Parts: sequence; C-alpha cells; structure tokens
Amino acid sequence: MICPYCGPANELVTDPGQRRARFSTDCEICCRPFELRVVWEPGENPVLEVVGF
Ligand SMILES: [Zn+2]
Repeated sequence: MICPYCGPANELVTDPGQRRARFSTDCEICCRPFELRVVWEPGENPVLEVVGF
C-alpha cells in the first residue's frame, strides 16, 4: 500500500480480481486511515491513487 503519511513504503496487498476498487485501509506503520483508488488493467501494474486522508 502507499501511505500518504509515510510514503510508498509497503507493498501492495489487493485482490487481483478487483480491477477497479476503492477502499479504505490503515497504514501498518503509522496506523492512520486513508482511502485509495486502484485501477488494475490485465497484464499491467496496478495504478494507485490516494483519494482521501
Ligand atoms: Zn503510514
């Protein structure tokens, strides 16, 4: 995941079946919640965007 507080420090953990997803998560390092949007096209790396924190 990419934390807006810590920066891109953690590896992404996402269900590959969800090609377009929007979810909230907590940072494993600083434990602060934030919201991400993911667009995952087949054969490409997922594109992550922080939409709120
Ligand atoms: Zn963090």
